Amino acid sequence: MDALSLTKTEWEARMQELGQPTYRAGQVLDWLFRRRVRDWTDMSNLPASIRQNLADNFPTRRLEKVRETGSKDTTRKFLFRLADGQLIESVLIPASPALYGEASDRRTICISSQVGCAYGCKFCASGLDGWKRNLTAAEIVDQFLQVEAESGEKINNIVFMGMGEPMANYDNLLRAISILNAPWGVGIGARHMTVSTSGLAPRIRDLAAQPLQVRLAISFHGATDEVRGRIMPVNKKYPIEELLSACEEYVGIKKQRLTFEYILIRDINDSPEQARLLAQQARRVNAKVNLIPYNTVEGLEWDRPDEPRQEEFLGILRNAGAEATLRREKGHDIAAACGQLRLQVEKSFAPGSVLN
Ligand code: SAH
Ligand code: SF4
Repeated sequence: MDALSLTKTEWEARMQELGQPTYRAGQVLDWLFRRRVRDWTDMSNLPASIRQNLADNFPTRRLEKVRETGSKDTTRKFLFRLADGQLIESVLIPASPALYGEASDRRTICISSQVGCAYGCKFCASGLDGWKRNLTAAEIVDQFLQVEAESGEKINNIVFMGMGEPMANYDNLLRAISILNAPWGVGIGARHMTVSTSGLAPRIRDLAAQPLQVRLAISFHGATDEVRGRIMPVNKKYPIEELLSACEEYVGIKKQRLTFEYILIRDINDSPEQARLLAQQARRVNAKVNLIPYNTVEGLEWDRPDEPRQEEFLGILRNAGAEATLRREKGHDIAAACGQLRLQVEKSFAPGSVLN
């Protein structure tokens, strides 16, 4: 197991096995997460024999940056290569996050949870190539550490909205969240983490039962089973009613507000009727609606509605008493288009080839 995947309790158990005092666990974690040192030989306050033992048993690989786009003050995308050659991307969203539209000192990282995605939503680049594998907890956590290292920025907000369906990698996700959250780990408050899901109702209930106050965003994208089912195959398994009922449970237990993400796709889900129904659904679970004009994805045929139509949809939601925002920036290069950098890069190489 990679060193970044272990919790404090697990390090303490490891140290006991090695006949060491448990405070050694704190020393290891201090090197890894506070000083950001990966090489066991550099961890000078650990006995040499322990360093050797750990080096033999716990790899401390770094994600390798393959490509970076954007610059300070814009959305920056990082393409990382994993140890087995697979590619994932992470996105750093600067101080005034497009994501929520308000001015703040928030610096958000958008983290991937899987290589590819099995859910095949019809608007999404991440699913185009199918699912390859789950990320380990270490690979999830390391996206945070490497993006901080590469950018020189301190990140204070995390969204699991990158490639993959986080709830389909539930155990590793929870492990990563607890490491990102822990005072001995990265130290990001649970309220500054948002898990986004296409609607895995049973996992929403599981997460509701967890003590951590992480936020939840639902990729909604359709207000009837007919429309939602057409663009999100997962809706056949967990139709809207089941999804809403899981959301009710989450809100009831956590006492916090949900977000509904709703991509506006021209002539697919942008009708006034969809807006009216969506308003009712959002009000039922007290969710804020985040409208996102569709980003064109190469290989997919859809487009976004024109601006008056976007505003009309927003107006209907608000008139019906739902809290809603519309992302208005013109560029298509925003965080939600995760998965696209990987596709661009992979397309420029023969299928199946590994980048060098
Ligand atoms: N699998 C999870 C998290 C990753 S998707 C989920 O589906 O929620 C993260 C967000 O990016 C989702 O809200 C998704 O709807 C959005 N997204 C994907 N493709 C997009 C596109 N082409 N344009 C705009 N947003 C997109
Ligand atoms: Fe997967 Fe989410 Fe993309 Fe759907 S929107 S294909 S669940 S990453």
